[in-house]
Amino acid sequence: MVSRREITDARPDLAEVLPAAHAEFPVRVTRSFWERMDPSDANDPLAMQVLPHPGELVDDDGDVDDPVGDAAKSPVPWVVHKYADRVLLMMTKRCHLYCRYCFRRNHDPAEGLDPSAEEWEAALAYIESARPREVILSGGDPLAVRDDRFFATLERLQKSVRVLRIHTRAPITFPERITDDWVQRLARYAPVYVVVHTNHARELSADVDTALARLIDAGIPVLNQAVLLRGVNADAQVLAELFEALLERRVKPYYLHHTDHAAGNAHFRVSLDEGRALMRQVRERVGGLALPVYVLDPPDGSGKRPIHY
Ligand code: SF4
Repeated sequence: MVSRREITDARPDLAEVLPAAHAEFPVRVTRSFWERMDPSDANDPLAMQVLPHPGELVDDDGDVDDPVGDAAKSPVPWVVHKYADRVLLMMTKRCHLYCRYCFRRNHDPAEGLDPSAEEWEAALAYIESARPREVILSGGDPLAVRDDRFFATLERLQKSVRVLRIHTRAPITFPERITDDWVQRLARYAPVYVVVHTNHARELSADVDTALARLIDAGIPVLNQAVLLRGVNADAQVLAELFEALLERRVKPYYLHHTDHAAGNAHFRVSLDEGRALMRQVRERVGGLALPVYVLDPPDGSGKRPIHY
């Protein structure tokens, strides 16, 4: 991991904001991601995603405590059940790297970063009684937990659900996590889908390519979610390059999320009108296979819906 000292050496202007921002939401950057960014450039689209911004510390009228309405749809801790046939299971609140715009940045660390043994048993028991068709392992990052717990969870879930899905940013932020051995173990749980999270084509470095190819060559379909972020990818050409670069790597662009209104991410937000205009331009530039669904996940907990443009 990159040290605080390295961050402030590269960006002396962050020396003051960094401790306060870290107290609100951890500042943590993997070495691999750091090497892809220009940390000295405040406008670098990768650095912007992971280095704090003074705007994080300012309340905004548009801030929403629970921006996608998870709390109202959580029957037991660590479970979100918004759709009849799918359940989201949060394995941890930890990530290898923390994205400053994260819609779960409001998690209260005092509630614990990992489930207790009792909470985990209750979460799995809920899924076994609800019997959804599909379970989505999420977090935090589900790959931030130890392999024994990760695979024991898959083993148990496989007995009661038809499809497993893993939402992880690890192949992009910490690609060395995706070893051959790990991928071979994961492939035993087919049908299992991996949904990664990439916002800019420059995130797709050689080590990321290797991690993605390992998954896909093992027969594990990989899709991508991106978040529309001012200063990072709110530009038709940047989005088109991202979607085409993913497709070249056999990764299907799946969702482009309209920016949520988490407290502290106001400087990343794009209006719906701007988002629609951007997607109209992107549609002119890329083929249908490269085009993700542009979606909004509203705070009322009703679930994602497509934004028409
Ligand atoms: S990897 Fe996902 S859960 Fe973790 S900080 Fe980034 S957006 Fe949030």
